[in-house]
Amino acid sequence: MSDCIFCKIASNEMKAELVYQDERVTAFRDIHPAAPTHILIVPNKHIEAVSRLEVEDEALMGHIFTVARKIAQDEEIEKDGYRLITNTGVNGGQTVFHLHVHLLGGQMMKHPMG
Ligand code: 5GP
Ligand code: ZN
Repeated sequence: MSDCIFCKIASNEMKAELVYQDERVTAFRDIHPAAPTHILIVPNKHIEAVSRLEVEDEALMGHIFTVARKIAQDEEIEKDGYRLITNTGVNGGQTVFHLHVHLLGGQMMKHPMG
């Protein structure tokens, strides 16, 4: 996807503050942080959203979560807790159409269901 900003960040074509990268995933700080720690974890390959996941992506999605845990340890937010969010589609509030998991922490997060 040549015009996808998260593809460009994952391929190091576009700058971001990377916190983790391997052959399958890239993690970087959100440009507009909503919490003291706000990191996005994305698959290096372009997947538009959860609604486009295939069975063969299951291991990749599991890897995203274990990477999220490792980053939470590195950021020293593991003990106090953190939130993982994946917005999907327009009603889900997704604005960048390359699947990503938000890792939010460093403060008490307001409950999204009120
Ligand atoms: P969504 O609304 O799709 O769940 O989340 C997209 C997130 O990407 C937003 O929190 C937004 O601040 C972040 N974002 C958008 N463009 C960029 C960018 O160019 N660089 C970085 N680091 N984050 C971005
Ligand atoms: Zn992409």
